Formats: sequence, C-alpha cells, structure tokens
Amino acid sequence: TVAVVLFTSNLRLHDNPPLHAALAAADEVLPLFVLDEHITDAGFRVPNRRAFLADCLAGLDAGLRDRGGRLVIRSGRPAEEVCRLATEAGARDVYVAAGVTAYAHRREEALRTALEAQGCRLHVHDAVITAVAPGSVTPGSSGSDHFAVFTPYFRRWSEQPLRELFAAPRALRVPEGPGSEPVPSRMAVAGVSEGLARGGESAARERFAAWYGDGIAGYGDRHDDLAGDATSRLSPDLHFGTLSPVELVHRARATGGPGADAFVRQLCWRDFHHQVLAARPAAAHTDYRSRHDRWRTERSAADDIAAWQEGRTGYPVVDAAMRQLRHEGWMHNRGRLLTASFLAKTLYVDWRIGARHFLGLLVDGDIANNQLNWQWVAGTGTDSRPNRVLNPVLQGRRYDPEGTYVRRWVPELSGIEGGAVHEPWKLSGPARDRCAYPEPVVGLAEGLARFKEARDLA
Ligand code: FAD
Repeated sequence: TVAVVLFTSNLRLHDNPPLHAALAAADEVLPLFVLDEHITDAGFRVPNRRAFLADCLAGLDAGLRDRGGRLVIRSGRPAEEVCRLATEAGARDVYVAAGVTAYAHRREEALRTALEAQGCRLHVHDAVITAVAPGSVTPGSSGSDHFAVFTPYFRRWSEQPLRELFAAPRALRVPEGPGSEPVPSRMAVAGVSEGLARGGESAARERFAAWYGDGIAGYGDRHDDLAGDATSRLSPDLHFGTLSPVELVHRARATGGPGADAFVRQLCWRDFHHQVLAARPAAAHTDYRSRHDRWRTERSAADDIAAWQEGRTGYPVVDAAMRQLRHEGWMHNRGRLLTASFLAKTLYVDWRIGARHFLGLLVDGDIANNQLNWQWVAGTGTDSRPNRVLNPVLQGRRYDPEGTYVRRWVPELSGIEGGAVHEPWKLSGPARDRCAYPEPVVGLAEGLARFKEARDLA
C-alpha cells in the first residue's frame, strides 16, 4: 500500500504524528508539500517567510533523502494536487496535521470531500501544530467553546496529558514514479532582511540545543532584557513546524525549574491564541471585543504611520525595535509589546495597520499569534486591562537600562552613554544637534489624552 503525507506547518521528521502514522500503516510513503496558490496569491508569502520556507523545504528534502526518501513539491490548490498525486501513486490514504485557521479548516474540508469522491481516506492528526489541540480544553461550566482569559486556560492546559513523542524515522520507502518541482531556493527570493535566520529542521534543532542549557535556566529572569537577547528565538521554527511544540513542552517539563516553567508558560500563550482563533476565526480581522474605537487610519495618520514603520518616531526604544524588525525579520517580544502599544495607544492608529506591517516582515508572522497579540495590546482582545498604555521612555529605562539595545539599532544615538539615550530631547543644545535624530512625533501626554478621549476614559 501507498500513503501520501501532506506537510503543512509541520516541516519536520522528528515527532511528526501524520508521518509516523503513515509509515506505520503503509509500505510506501510519499511526502508532499503543496505551494498553495491561495496563500501565494493572498500575499502571505512575504520575502522573509518565503526565504525561510525555502530553507525548511530544502532541509526536509535532504532529511528524507538521507533516509532513502524524497520530498515531492507541487504548486496549485492542495485538494487538487493531493488527489492528483494520490492517483499517480495509487495511494488510498492521506495523512495531514489538523490546521487551526479558518483557511486551514476550509482546506481540510475541501481535501476530505475531494479524496472521498475518489475513494480515498483523509487522516487528520491533532497536537502537531500546537501542544494541545485547540478545542480540546474548554471552560466547561460557562458553556463557552473557548477560553477568553489566559490564566484559567493555562491552569487547564497544564493538567492535560501530553501525547507521546515520535522519533524521526530511520528509513522510508517512496514510490518511484511521481515527479516533483524543484525545491525552492532562498537565493531566488528578493527583498529578504539582511539578518534573517536560517531555516530548516537541522538549523532549528541546533538553535534549540545551543540555547537550551543556559538559556532555559536564565529564561525566567532574562526574557525581558532587550539587549541581552536571551529568549529562544525559536518562534520561526515553531511557526513552520521544524520544531514540535509537544517536544519542547516535554523537554522543558523534564528539566524543571523557574526558567523552564516560564518558557512553558510562553508556549501555552501560543496555544492560547490558537484556540481563540480556532473558535473565533473572524478575530483575525475584526475586534474580538469592540471598544468602539474611532481609530486613526492610513489617511488620517499617514505621516505618523510612516515614522513608526521606518523607526523614526523620535522615541529611541520604539525606533530601535522597528529597525530590528526590518533588519532581522524578527523582533524581541518586549519590543513587539511596546511598539504595538505605541502605534495603537499613543498614536491611536488602527491595530490592523500595525499587524499588517508586522506580517509583511516577521519571519514568524502568524495569524493566530500576530493578530491576537495585536488585539491584546490594542485592548480589543483578551487583555483584562484593555486601557493600559506602555510608556516608551519608562519601558526603555526598565528593559534596556544601559541603552545598549538602542545604540545597537539606532546609530545616530551611539554617542550618548547609558540610559540617557532614552530621552535625547533632554540633551543640551550642541549634543542634541550632533545626534541628527528626530523630535518625538507626538508628546506622550498628548497621545495619552487623545487615547483617553477616544475611549471615553477622560
Ligand atoms: P520565547 O520567549 O523564547 O518564547 C518561546 C515561544 O513561545 C516562542 O517562540 C513563541 O512560539 C511562544 N510565545 C512567546 N510569547 C508569546 C506570545 N506572547 N504569544 C504567543 N506565543 C508566544 N509570535 C509569533 O510566533 N508570531 C507572530 O506573528 C507574533 N506577533 C506578535 C505581535 C505582537 C504585537 C506581540 C506583542 C507579540 C507577537 N508574537 C508573535 C509573540 C512573541 O512576541 C513571539 O513569539 C516571541 O517574541 C518570539 O521570540 P522567541 O521565540 O525568542 O520567544
């Protein structure tokens, strides 16, 4: 017998339940990735993610070849391509990871219908893209289909038994016939951020191994240190599924200690946002909880939006983080929080405009994590304190006390020592003139007053 394994956001050989199940059930297995024209056309495949995806596919193909297999790549609509390949290979069974977005659900349904029409079966596996399947943990008594608050979700999530881990296969047999398009190359992608990380399962496992020992021990104390850059940087590996979230939770729990606990909690935030999106797909675009905002828009705030995007708002820590995003296609979580708060609450610009800009650059750009974190910061999401506003000067002084992070990304300010770099406007005349750095686009008091008035909090 022959089975097809459709890889989506699980581009790995380790701990991959659909691959494991197919290998257990069939004599020959055909691994497939479809370059989905819906996703390419919708503009989601921005350069940074296209380049990283190319690395992931090359890595998957290489890993399969080491084991006697290969990856088949096709372009088109997944349901059509899977059916075509199943016919070519004489396969009756197709294995795939359960998706979480509205689009992934539609893709799954289209696939099931098309396969059944030609007498094939679709096998869908949970807890592949997230550690705990969205929808498997619900508040129960309240009758709601998902948790809208993180802490009770975290409690219930922590009580769930994790599924067992699956080792990477040692060998696989692949039918000879079906052809593949060439594996895409990162080199063919234009407009990629200079400091973009390398993708692929080997790179992900190396990153994890390099960070794990000291990184996880110090994670609880250091994860908010902007200059220390002490977080795992595994978000793109989790996004493309070159690392398994179940494996990470297993490993961290086995290690234990405050750092590991804090890391597991962040992995739970990832699952939390996925379960909100799975239950409320519209939250990708519409307010999860409307605050009746009268947001400033592209038209009414064009100059402020451009200054924010280009890292020249005049607030050093905001500008540093926005420049890191452009340069690396990644930004520290504390930077994401304070730049998003600055756009939504100080400039009072629609969170969707910021979320779109992030998605255009982030290598880990992810509908669940990006849109719902943006909503969390904007106060339209699941934050129980929707009107808190992060002050960028205080944030800078607290999370970059020596100003090292700012000087790393904002060379105009490299001559200013220590934490004074967070308030260049306080410098005396000639020193201020020498740094050729813009004045703040808006005063913080003015921004706060505008926000309070617009939210009827004044
Ligand atoms: P670590 O601190 O090492 O955390 C480990 C893992 O936990 C991360 O890789 C990530 O998968 C998960 N995680 C950590 N924090 C969060 C969080 N707040 N929400 C959900 N998962 C989390 N993360 C994305 O993966 N994709 C996005 O598009 C994205 N957009 C964001 C937009 C905004 C406005 C904000 C405030 C946060 C966003 N995040 C997003 C969450 C978080 O900032 C990143 O996951 C984190 O910075 C990635 O760095 P890391 O891998 O070193 O994280």
